[in-house]
Amino acid sequence: MDTKIMKTLLLDVDGVLANFIGGIIQTHGWPFTHKEFNCWDYHRTHGYTDEEMWEPTKDGKWWLGLDPYDHAADLLAKLRETHNIIFCTAPNSDATCASQKIQWLEKHGFMEPGSGDYQIGKHKHLNAMSGCVLIDDSDENVWRYRHAGGRAILFPQPWNDNRGLVDCQLTHVVSELEAYESGQPFPSKSRVVCKRDSAEIDTLGWSHGMSVCRAGDEYQIESCVLTPGSKWAVMITGELHPACDFEAKA
Ligand SMILES: [Mg+2]
Repeated sequence: MDTKIMKTLLLDVDGVLANFIGGIIQTHGWPFTHKEFNCWDYHRTHGYTDEEMWEPTKDGKWWLGLDPYDHAADLLAKLRETHNIIFCTAPNSDATCASQKIQWLEKHGFMEPGSGDYQIGKHKHLNAMSGCVLIDDSDENVWRYRHAGGRAILFPQPWNDNRGLVDCQLTHVVSELEAYESGQPFPSKSRVVCKRDSAEIDTLGWSHGMSVCRAGDEYQIESCVLTPGSKWAVMITGELHPACDFEAKA
């Protein structure tokens, strides 16, 4: 009997499954491409305001017409091999946006109709201590989730700090998940020593009360979390990942 208990992922929709940026560019006929959209407010650099950008999304049907990314079905199939999926998405101010997002997930066969496997709202970080990993294309959402003590994976897109990984989006997500899964927590209150410099600094804005790990540095569990890939010491709560090359202090 298979007694494996599937863990749960919180999966963002826009920018991960739904091509929101492509849709907004096409709707407006803007003179730039998805690939060129290299920051969250890229439209402003071309003189377009936020109000202009959002206006056509409030017609009661715009969200339902978004195209899925080519990778969407493959990503979901891969994640579902090992995890249950809860879709986690924030609506805009259009009163019908939330229901359109649900319909969109069902329309494309990503979510079973009536399953209720979604959370709709912008406060994703409130799930951080649930043990569920968040996958999201927003630097801010990922930062908030991690800062609240959770584990989150930044889905590579041209507008976020993983833009250098856009050609290996699925590989990145899977490898980060595997890294999380293989993490060996150290006992509470133990002290660990960094075996080598961990100077691969990401640019997520992790600059508050955190430091780069240096060989020989000591940390006490419960004051330090290391996230695979970023290799930052994060002063939140306690677990270390072996990819960061720490060992228990004798
Ligand atoms: Mg998103």
